[in-house]
Amino acid sequence: MKKDYIINKTSKVQEKESKIEVINGATYIDGILIVNKTYSLPKDFIPNNTYEKVTKETGMCPLCINIDAYNAFKKMEEDANKENLKLWIQSGYRTYSYQENLYNRYIEKDGKEKADIYSSRPGHSEHHTGLSFDLNSVEDSFIDTNEGKWINDNAYKYGFIIRYPKGKEKYTGYKYEPWHLRYVGKTLAKKLYNDGNWISLEEYFDITSEYKD
Ligand SMILES: [Zn+2]
Repeated sequence: MKKDYIINKTSKVQEKESKIEVINGATYIDGILIVNKTYSLPKDFIPNNTYEKVTKETGMCPLCINIDAYNAFKKMEEDANKENLKLWIQSGYRTYSYQENLYNRYIEKDGKEKADIYSSRPGHSEHHTGLSFDLNSVEDSFIDTNEGKWINDNAYKYGFIIRYPKGKEKYTGYKYEPWHLRYVGKTLAKKLYNDGNWISLEEYFDITSEYKD
């Protein structure tokens, strides 16, 4: 893999050294792939080690997600099942062009300003990483369901974070999305869960999430 550059940066929030690396156009901080309004993925980025393989025909593929994220989801699904809760992935991996169509449809419907707070511009979608997915229903009311509440309290145990927590819009750049999970591994997920007071990735790494234009 080609490393474009490496920066060592001290985060104000954590007072720790974070290593920022850009590899083939994708940004990693302490090994965590970062995609938000500031950091994007190249158009041709394809996640490797996915459960179902990404092909030329892939547009959106629920199970074309990273194998570790998939296995963690299966375990979580199984444990949720024991409590009579049903979890499913309704949207997983999305290609650049799939996201482009989706985003353009939202612009037509609501205008650019509004679309930018609930949808991502192509290249800026976490769904492009293969490490994120939307559960069950993409509705604000998901948090009021038993599944939504259980996910909020338990997803971190499997290595997932609520990527766009409630009240963190000014950091993440997105409105609260109780259904959108991102796999980061158990250690970081536990820190970000923060005993129920979710910390966003942006706060944790002291990074921005803002479009340049
Ligand atoms: Zn999502």
